[in-house]
Amino acid sequence: MSITGIKGFNDLLPAESGLWQFIEQTARQVFARYGFNEIRVPIVEKTELFCRSIGDTTDIVEKEMYTFMDKGGSSLTLRPEGTASVMRALIEHKLYALDSINKLYYMGPMFRHERPQKGRYRQFHQIGAEVTGAADPLIDAQVLLMVSRLFQEFGLTEPRLQINSLGCPACRPAYRQALVAFLAERQEALCEDCRRRQGTNPLRALDCKVPGCIEATQGAPAMVEHLCNECDQHFSMVQNYLTAAEVLFSLNPRMVRGLDYYTRTTFELVTGLLGAQSAVAAGGRYDGLVEQLGGPAVPGIGFALGVERVALLLGDRSFEKTPDLFIAVMGDAARTAGFRLMAALQDQGFWVETDCEGKSLKSQMRRADKLKSRYSIVLGDTELVAGSGTLKRMADGNQQPVHLEAATIAAAITGGGQT
Ligand code: ATP
Ligand code: MG
Repeated sequence: MSITGIKGFNDLLPAESGLWQFIEQTARQVFARYGFNEIRVPIVEKTELFCRSIGDTTDIVEKEMYTFMDKGGSSLTLRPEGTASVMRALIEHKLYALDSINKLYYMGPMFRHERPQKGRYRQFHQIGAEVTGAADPLIDAQVLLMVSRLFQEFGLTEPRLQINSLGCPACRPAYRQALVAFLAERQEALCEDCRRRQGTNPLRALDCKVPGCIEATQGAPAMVEHLCNECDQHFSMVQNYLTAAEVLFSLNPRMVRGLDYYTRTTFELVTGLLGAQSAVAAGGRYDGLVEQLGGPAVPGIGFALGVERVALLLGDRSFEKTPDLFIAVMGDAARTAGFRLMAALQDQGFWVETDCEGKSLKSQMRRADKLKSRYSIVLGDTELVAGSGTLKRMADGNQQPVHLEAATIAAAITGGGQT
């Protein structure tokens, strides 16, 4: 019996990798415009890093982490998200001392033990970005501007940007009390999880997906109505900047993120096209996180998008690439001459294919068709003696005599009927 992969851990097959490369390249290009540099952090970290940053009472830490003991007896975890690792690296390498503002981006696999379904996997991929060192609302707006431009560059008008403010340590406790009091009156209607979380993480009730909880929390007090002056000011400035740059957004006062480190501005890009997997990208400000992880008081804000979900939204777009030229050969001398020609054209940047199975001319031409090669040429003894052959444009069968030199053929296949 053959061995299969693990449930929720997917292969990315060649048919889809063109789409993924498009997503990654677009992100790199957009990030560069806003001054972001790439950081690559390990896939495994000490478990404590995630407990301390994401929070012990979050779904991620309570239920979703891949945690194991390594042979040395330390508890390690496959990273469930990127921000914690990036902040750990920022502190460890004192990047905050090299520059007061750090703009970093990352891409790579994340791991969460969830029930696999469309748009939800156990190994999934995120592209994310973080800015540290600036508490100014202008930075919040710039991150949101960048995210919305990124989705524009993907060619997506869905998903839509929703924003909220989660306040700060000065105003959240009073809000939390008001919410706990509201929930206490509706105990019976709440699911078991929400009841259990009331002492530890009552805000989670607001984004619980259980219908009973959605109904019971209608009319619940909202954080935006309990913001302190500074948070209120901050949030209105963010909205002013967004409006000034014509970034479309809506307010979602019920949005609470599943990670404890968020403060002030939080946001999601939400789609109606992926069922319960409605969040395509999400993020927010985390002004206390660096300090909480043992670093200096450096504010930060960031986001991450789910590559699988973006790929699902882009789904039907084709990123198929096709060869520029197929060299069909008859006989050993032609095979060698064809190999030489192929090497010279490849050096000039063309994608060239030739026979590698010793097939008949007819099957070689079938293969050229199957690969959707733009051009083909047949080399046999006659062509070698004459030093010339016939270049065929596959789309319309148009034929053109050419010298068997890389430079001539390169000129003929450049632009000539690019279809
Ligand atoms: P959800 O509410 O769908 O569980 P989340 O709030 O847990 O999402 P975040 O932790 O904010 O998600 O991660 C940011 C993005 O990563 C999400 O918007 C989503 O696109 C993607 N993502 C999160 N979990 C998964 C998963 N298990 N499989 C695929 N993509 C995921
Ligand atoms: Mg989740």
